[in-house]
Amino acid sequence: MQRYYSLKNLNTFGLNVTASHYVSVESLDDIDQAARSEIFASSKRLILGGGSNILFLDDFFSGIVLHINLQGWEIIEDDPDFVIVKVGAGHEWDALVNAMVERELYGIENLALIPGKVGAAPIQNIGAYGVEMKDSFHRLHAYDLQTHKIEIFDKERCDFGYRNSIFKQQAKERYIIMWVELKLKKNAELNLDYGNIKDYLSENNIRNPTISDVRDAVVAIRQSKLPDPVEIGNAGSFFKNPVVHQLLYDDLKREFHDLPGYTNGNSTYKIPAGWMIEKTGWKGFREGDAGVHNKQALVLVNHGKATGREIFGLAMKIQQSVRKKFGITLEPEVNII
Ligand SMILES: Cc1cc2nc3c(=O)[nH]c(=O)nc-3n(C[C@H](O)[C@H](O)[C@H](O)COP(=O)(O)OP(=O)(O)OC[C@H]3O[C@@H](n4cnc5c(N)ncnc54)[C@H](O)[C@@H]3O)c2cc1C
Repeated sequence: MQRYYSLKNLNTFGLNVTASHYVSVESLDDIDQAARSEIFASSKRLILGGGSNILFLDDFFSGIVLHINLQGWEIIEDDPDFVIVKVGAGHEWDALVNAMVERELYGIENLALIPGKVGAAPIQNIGAYGVEMKDSFHRLHAYDLQTHKIEIFDKERCDFGYRNSIFKQQAKERYIIMWVELKLKKNAELNLDYGNIKDYLSENNIRNPTISDVRDAVVAIRQSKLPDPVEIGNAGSFFKNPVVHQLLYDDLKREFHDLPGYTNGNSTYKIPAGWMIEKTGWKGFREGDAGVHNKQALVLVNHGKATGREIFGLAMKIQQSVRKKFGITLEPEVNII
């Protein structure tokens, strides 16, 4: 266990945060030892992956940071139609995507370039370009901080939803995800439904796309739209896209004719939060070093020396003005610590 450990390079907002206690978890023994220590029982805890979906409010975290660093992946089942791949929770998500694309194993190519670690992917059921992690999820192994035992969670038990799972609800902070198993297909099954991917492929004259073409398309689209945290601190989408009842959607549509929305097929619509933030005039806004990205209003950024509270304060102002204009309360996607 290390004391007074800097987390500046372990959160993509680039906030200058120090933790009073820090442990790098590389094995089951590491976690067992940390979880049974005296200090653990009396301390606040934070389970940390790549730090790409968190916002620290304060510059000092008084408690134990468990940094999950279990690496590597292996194929544990090889069927004529699919494989089951078991991955360490600390493995870089995008490195896994690339390894699977190289082997032509289908399922997660649309989730290329999402920052962070494999262990965090089930927490909010990461998603992009028409695909969610749950679509390829098999099961996971989690360390129970109450019983000190490993438990298996299948898809049903994870209760995945839109940017949601049991680990953000009733199981929050009880389990540490150690390994994730994904079920990937051997037969070509590409998801090209998402508009931008189709456009990219046709602009580049790719008529019969391969799995690498799709991954490359996603990477190119993302790079053209989203800020790279290495260049400017951010945690991707700050808010979730709100899901509203059709009646409310119809009402809003009468008032705002250009309101976009995607039906979920069950009398609900998902409205792009970025559109609402842009409509309330926040795109490109900057207050000190806290700001709203100038290409994607859903992304809040740290231009350099912003504090967590400044970024959070800006988020709350945005939430308030969206509520005033549209009557909808945006819910943060980013975990506030
Ligand atoms: C530029 C950018 C683009 C992004 N684009 C997308 C996108 O397209 N789609 C999307 O869904 N997300 C996106 N994100 C958000 C983020 O990349 C994902 O949520 C990612 O899964 C977070 O991984 P992480 O390892 O960084 O998690 P962290 O930020 O370290 O942690 C996130 C949460 O998970 C918990 N946690 C982490 N690891 C474990 C574990 N092993 N066991 C238990 N709990 C754990 C943490 O306590 C915390 O509550 C983006 C972020 C950025 C910066």
